[in-house]
Amino acid sequence: MIVLKSAREISYLREAGRIVALALQELEKRIRPGVTTGELNQFAEEFLYRAGAFPAFLGYHGFPASICTSVNNEVVHGIPGLRKLENGDIISIDIGAVYHEYYGDAAITFPVGDISAEARSLLDVTKKALFVGIVQAVAGNRVGDISAAVQNFVESNGFHVVRDFVGHGVGRSMHEEPQVPNFGKPGVGPRLQPGLVMAIEPMVNVGTFEVVVMPDRWTVVTKDGSLSAHFEHTILVTEGEPEILTRI
Ligand code: MG
Repeated sequence: MIVLKSAREISYLREAGRIVALALQELEKRIRPGVTTGELNQFAEEFLYRAGAFPAFLGYHGFPASICTSVNNEVVHGIPGLRKLENGDIISIDIGAVYHEYYGDAAITFPVGDISAEARSLLDVTKKALFVGIVQAVAGNRVGDISAAVQNFVESNGFHVVRDFVGHGVGRSMHEEPQVPNFGKPGVGPRLQPGLVMAIEPMVNVGTFEVVVMPDRWTVVTKDGSLSAHFEHTILVTEGEPEILTRI
């Protein structure tokens, strides 16, 4: 069932989203060669608590950290730890916050130092794909309009969208209906209505869309070892333009 949000609920979702956006802005300043993914996690966790929020990912199905840090060929759900970032890496940071029981969820892939032309292109295309999807998030459209727009944009740029993980409704749970795939056909799926809040989150691979879960049971990597990027916003469908809740 898709739950449309009341004005009161939207005010909490806005604050959860704002906290997530601020945390990502602060994390970006700390990304440099030599920093460990564990240090980024610790900073993010403390930031969320100081903001009056709770780290949504911590303990979620047993996840052991407050952010996901996925480097290079890692797609999503990388576990922060002792890994030191190196010049030329890309790192996807996914962060969720709970504020007064309501969730915010966003992700950005950041460059570490100087990155290759291929990596730069992947980041540009994935970020643009997110906004190509958001533009479709208007009342009267269907979920498939978002999916098809993202897939067409990514594939027309020579990259591939991950199938095994999808966007989702957001509210008092981190993952609500509807599912929001990054692939599909226009004109199909649930119709979008004002008050619908969802996370749109293209995961884009340079090579095959196929992915593999590592033995740690969390880290998802590309099957062919190619680079992967991930951009995500939580957005609100309105009577007019979509409102991006995880942007400052
Ligand atoms: Mg998400």
